[in-house]
Amino acid sequence: MAARAPKTALAEAKPKTIYQRLGVPQRINAAGTLTRLGGSLMAPEVLLAMAQAAEASVDISELQSAASRVIAACTGAQAGIVTSGAAAGLTLATAACLAGWDVNRMAALPDTRAMPHRVLMARTHRNSYDHAVRLAGAEIVDIGHNDRGTGAGVRGLEAWEIEAAIDARSAAFLFVATPDTLADLPMVMATAHQHGLPVIVDAAAQLPPRSNLKTFIEAGADLVVFSGGKAIGGPQPSGILAGRRDLVGSALVQMMDMDVSPQTWSPSALIDRDALKGIPHHGIGRGFKVGKEEIAGLLVALERFVARDEDAIAEQFTARLQAIAAALSEAPSLTARLIARDGVDQHVPLLELTFAGSAHALSRRLQHGMPPVHLGERLAHQNVLTINPQTLRPDDDAVLVRCLIESSRSAV
Ligand SMILES: *Cc1c(COP(=O)(O)O)cnc(C)c1O
Repeated sequence: MAARAPKTALAEAKPKTIYQRLGVPQRINAAGTLTRLGGSLMAPEVLLAMAQAAEASVDISELQSAASRVIAACTGAQAGIVTSGAAAGLTLATAACLAGWDVNRMAALPDTRAMPHRVLMARTHRNSYDHAVRLAGAEIVDIGHNDRGTGAGVRGLEAWEIEAAIDARSAAFLFVATPDTLADLPMVMATAHQHGLPVIVDAAAQLPPRSNLKTFIEAGADLVVFSGGKAIGGPQPSGILAGRRDLVGSALVQMMDMDVSPQTWSPSALIDRDALKGIPHHGIGRGFKVGKEEIAGLLVALERFVARDEDAIAEQFTARLQAIAAALSEAPSLTARLIARDGVDQHVPLLELTFAGSAHALSRRLQHGMPPVHLGERLAHQNVLTINPQTLRPDDDAVLVRCLIESSRSAV
């Protein structure tokens, strides 16, 4: 037996964090709830729910039924399930619109040759999450022009353009919600619904404000997806799919473990057994399973998100950003500008830093520093980097300022 190591001051010190043990540096994240940086930081209450959930077995479809009650209460939707993220929610939403309760279609996906399979969307809404829709087997048909985007004209998508694109091959309309697209939503809903076409709304990042949990369902969305790992503060690989009960049920059955025996299968009330001609096999969503821990964590995070004081949080963020801006007066090559929360299209206050040199070079230097620091790069092509306070821990602020002052000196 090896002799016990003598106790040193080091051994008595704080136990190493999991990241220290793995040799992975912790990063200062002023870029927001980005998936590649691990999404949101979770509250202890959320972690406790996940730990409790981990210690017992439950029927996942019963747990999803309980989730449905919580999500319905928060969104006003008929039903809802926890998904493994909003992107998974888009695939499942598409699969639900493609297959409904048809077991043959569920079995065929992503082969959609024998079913209506076109998902319509405005050309101006196309983005890299479209892949999640195509993954279910849908073909995206984009319509309209990008006149506003290019400055070539004044009009957005119009009803006649949607109507001209709807035919027997259409399965759904996908609407990507942002403050800029919201004005078009009533027209899209009315036109699509006139032709019996369900509307899926991608509202993954449209929180806060918490009122948006209800906005899209109230506007008539058949299905809406939200990220759980962004502002809600749930587990990073979680999301919400809410909407029509039949479509949510179809999505659920297409993501569940279906290795069940017909004699004993007793699915939750979300699944309409009478509407199913047989018991589906593992569906297109089987790879998107959510754990009981993620379901429990998301639900607790959602309840906290709904109950929190949005004004007070925004005021705290603003005060911290103002203090950071003031401290950055020591960095002459940086000009800070507070983008205040206005409750219209700016729901989280931000600090924009205009850099006298190349913002990409500064960002690269910050990311390779110690500790590594991440700022928002969406406007880097205009030499602007953004500080988003949502994932910035209070202890991070002073370190962030020091890193910015040092890096901005050497990167000019
Ligand atoms: C973040 C985001 C998604 C993906 O959300 P996940 O929860 O990370 O899967 C989809 N659509 C939009 C518009 C997003 O911003």
